[in-house]
Amino acid sequence: MAKEGREIRPLVAGNWKMNGHSASIGEAVAVRDALAGPLASLPADVMIAPPATLIAGFAATLGKGPLLLAGQDCHPKPCGAHTGDIAAEMLKDAGAAAVIVGHSERRADHGETSAEVKAKAEAAHRAGLIEIVCIGETQSERTASHTLTVVCQQLKDSMPPSSTAANTVIAYEPVWAIGTGLTPTSDDVRDVHAAIRGDLTTLFGAEGAKMRILYGGSVKPDNAAALMSVENVNGALVGGASLKASDFLAIVQTYGGG
Ligand code: PEP
Repeated sequence: MAKEGREIRPLVAGNWKMNGHSASIGEAVAVRDALAGPLASLPADVMIAPPATLIAGFAATLGKGPLLLAGQDCHPKPCGAHTGDIAAEMLKDAGAAAVIVGHSERRADHGETSAEVKAKAEAAHRAGLIEIVCIGETQSERTASHTLTVVCQQLKDSMPPSSTAANTVIAYEPVWAIGTGLTPTSDDVRDVHAAIRGDLTTLFGAEGAKMRILYGGSVKPDNAAALMSVENVNGALVGGASLKASDFLAIVQTYGGG
């Protein structure tokens, strides 16, 4: 019998953050070509979130192929006097299928609260985008044994009632693991993902039982298989290792298909 969460189609998403220019299209094309060729039977979805400036150009080159595109943030409103912001509808128009909301770098750099993240997630749904909502504890919260409390509170406060398994992905990203080369133990990841799954099921019933829960934080080709095999881990959100197609594909291939 499949372990809980294993029947869910995984997602491997790459977050390019503030990296990449139009010349970086070669990395995306290499991923797309692998997905359309040797990895055509991969039982997982694959996505990259390049900077917003690149989405339309990448979409034009990549076409409606197997590599999905995502934004890294959106404004809650569909339009208006918000200089420098980008609406979810604009991301959709540019060719995105999803948007990351509540990444810890946005929460830290821009003081985003979970209430704001929830409004952004609602905007994603309004625009027909999948929201990838990020939650995770800091090092000091972990040291104080507050991990589950913090993560579950962020989850409850960040998720709108419009969340379904089709339009919502959760990314558990311990803040101390992002870009540091550090990762939690498999047991720690299992415990946090089990708590998230429990709360999702309480909040959203059968839909919550089917939502994808990604692990993110220093996922690399050499640790991906161990992290992805943990119960209730339904894929990865990958930062640094998503910038080079060869590294990203090595992580993607954790799910086979080759
Ligand atoms: C991230 O920023 O979402 C992330 C997981 O980064 P990294 O893989 O570089 O730790």
